[in-house]
Amino acid sequence: AYIDRIERVEPEVNALVTTCADEALEAAKRVDKKRVKGELLGRLAGIPAIIKDNMCTKGVLSTASSKMLYNYKPVYDATVIEKLKAEDYVLLAKANMDEFAMGSSTETSYFGVTKNPWDTARVPGGSSGGSAACVAADEAVFSLGSDTGGSVRQPAAFCGVVGLKPTYGTVSRFGLMAFASSLDQIGPLTKTVEDSAFVLDIIAGNDKKDSTSAIMDYPRYGEGMKQGIKGLKVGIPKEYLEQEIDPEVRRSYLEAVKLFEEMGAVVEETSLPTFDYALSAYYVIASAEVASNLSRFDGIRYGYRTDHYSDLKEMYKNTRSEGFGDETKRRIMLGNYVLSSGYYDAYYLKALKVKTLIKNDFDRLFGKYDILLSPTAPTPAFEIGAKSTPLEMYVNDLFTVPVNIAGVTAISVPSGVTKEGLPVSVQMIAKAFDENTMFRAAWNFE
Ligand code: GLN
Repeated sequence: AYIDRIERVEPEVNALVTTCADEALEAAKRVDKKRVKGELLGRLAGIPAIIKDNMCTKGVLSTASSKMLYNYKPVYDATVIEKLKAEDYVLLAKANMDEFAMGSSTETSYFGVTKNPWDTARVPGGSSGGSAACVAADEAVFSLGSDTGGSVRQPAAFCGVVGLKPTYGTVSRFGLMAFASSLDQIGPLTKTVEDSAFVLDIIAGNDKKDSTSAIMDYPRYGEGMKQGIKGLKVGIPKEYLEQEIDPEVRRSYLEAVKLFEEMGAVVEETSLPTFDYALSAYYVIASAEVASNLSRFDGIRYGYRTDHYSDLKEMYKNTRSEGFGDETKRRIMLGNYVLSSGYYDAYYLKALKVKTLIKNDFDRLFGKYDILLSPTAPTPAFEIGAKSTPLEMYVNDLFTVPVNIAGVTAISVPSGVTKEGLPVSVQMIAKAFDENTMFRAAWNFE
């Protein structure tokens, strides 16, 4: 049924880069066989899922939506894929995204823009736009995305689904193509909060192959979710509301605040003074890290290689000039600039100091509050082509970026629909490794 659905909606939505219908049917048959034989079935037995194309899937094209990797078939699975396979999931397809996860609209993909299923003249958000659109369009039960500065939560908000950014260190990044390694986390996009906790429970856990993976007793994610939230302390950082916010988003957000009060939460206005610096710090740190991470794409070992060269240096140069898109090149240049001697202290080091201040700010608030509540994005989904400058695009990440900088966890949950019929969402933020308190708030709100 899902394969039929994909065939029907893909010409309009373009959420997918690669579809693996034959392999999916094979995987489903294997599950059926297990069932007939009475063997123990995994928790995702026969559940079809779609994976963002920056996660390595053995033998299946993994392109990060870049010409640079248009022909790349990994010889290994990312840890998250191994974990899903161990639970008998079915891989249906790989999802479209902004090239190497840089963007907020999925317009920088080498494989064309993904359309928002709610209104195909609009973007699905990004960079995990394909992962959000495919769940909204019922092409899969759930998907995985990656979130460096909001790339799971913002597209989830634009497409009216639930999107989770786990605490840094909760989900292994092994086999995720690195964008900004100190910020990247993989997270699920689902129809419900319950599914979100369910998928996190499967993909979370310590992994020796990721040196930043947390060593701890991982909780049972979702446990206690269905208790009420009477007495839950909810902080409203006023800086969020001081920004330019679409009136419909603001209205829906204020209704959400009221709902929390009605459910017995203790809601209080508070302040996150470093909020204003988060976006600038993010674009310095993320660009520095991506400039370093993308240096591996040189045309030698895998991926795209230019046909036009007479020596090695020219081969590197032309491969990278032809293989990377404009936004990727912009970030590489910006990153090299802020890391270069003479500018390192003024930009990169300064951004790292700001990062610490932001983290301290969040720590302070989480001494008082269980969760913080904000809109996920300042606007609903915008029209394709509407953002004509990079800065206009970057401003979209205003509300999601501080969470990655602080290394904490957040979830985006649909809160309503605008007069024009577009979904909007609220974001709930909790302290590091306290996903379960956040799930409780999100489940009750939903
Ligand atoms: N939109 C942000 C950026 O372009 C965030 C991307 C992400 O989270 N991967 O960097």
